[in-house]
Amino acid sequence: MSDFDLWSIRMHASGTSEGINRHLSGAERLVDGSLLNQVAVEMLTRAKGKFPDSIQITVEAIGDKDCHHIPCLSVQTVLSASAFEAAEFAKRVLASAGVPLSTATSAMNALQHGFSSDGVALRGASLWDSITGKRLEADKVRGVRASRFDYSPEGGAAVSKALAEHGLDHFRTREALALATKVIWSGIVAELCWSDEPSYTTGYVSTHRDGYVRLPGFKPAGATGGRIFFVQPNAADIASIEHRLQKAYALIDPPVSIFEPITAEDFLIRNEH
Ligand code: AMP
Repeated sequence: MSDFDLWSIRMHASGTSEGINRHLSGAERLVDGSLLNQVAVEMLTRAKGKFPDSIQITVEAIGDKDCHHIPCLSVQTVLSASAFEAAEFAKRVLASAGVPLSTATSAMNALQHGFSSDGVALRGASLWDSITGKRLEADKVRGVRASRFDYSPEGGAAVSKALAEHGLDHFRTREALALATKVIWSGIVAELCWSDEPSYTTGYVSTHRDGYVRLPGFKPAGATGGRIFFVQPNAADIASIEHRLQKAYALIDPPVSIFEPITAEDFLIRNEH
């Protein structure tokens, strides 16, 4: 596929419950024009499953605008005995990317209880100063959404094959890996994620150095979920990072490296944390 016939397609579904308008579902793809109809129907079907009041699908031709080809993050599954142990491990990974223990602890508290007293989930991620944990996103209700990314056709084939070979071919893993790859490429130093789907307890932490680190059982019971993007405290850079996250087009290329599951202890020794 030449990048020339590339299109961006994005979906956002929302609905009202208890008098509050809530984000229910979102998705982003970059696809060849020949796939647009099929992807639009897939997105509609997914959105309708959440019983929304409103679904927006935005389609945009990329034409000859710049589209970056970026390398896929490596995937590592780290096994822990409990959510507590997974959290302690994630704090070590975050520390190696420059996020102090106190900020990592506050981040997990925020994902446990949500960002607002009325329990409304952010549509995107919260953008944090990696040292102080100060929230930097301009729109504190919406958050920052990573957008305009997908696997290239070769990247998509490679990721499907590699995930299937490791028993990981779940759409959530596939989508989260793409998102995490775009986020780290955009200049974010680390990302922390717990799904807002109550039954999905695998979370992840990702950094430039360690890649995408999946942690089964990471999300504690009753957690709200969400995402936090940590950015170095250098105000001059933030606008360009937000621009890359939200506006720059990026296609993820092979290879896709997936490692065998490993214990937290072995990971920390192997990666010299
Ligand atoms: P999910 O993993 O789909 O359950 O999403 C968990 C949370 O991550 C959502 O509630 C949003 O707050 C956030 N999120 C989902 N998609 C994005 C995105 N494209 N960019 C930034 N944050 C996102």
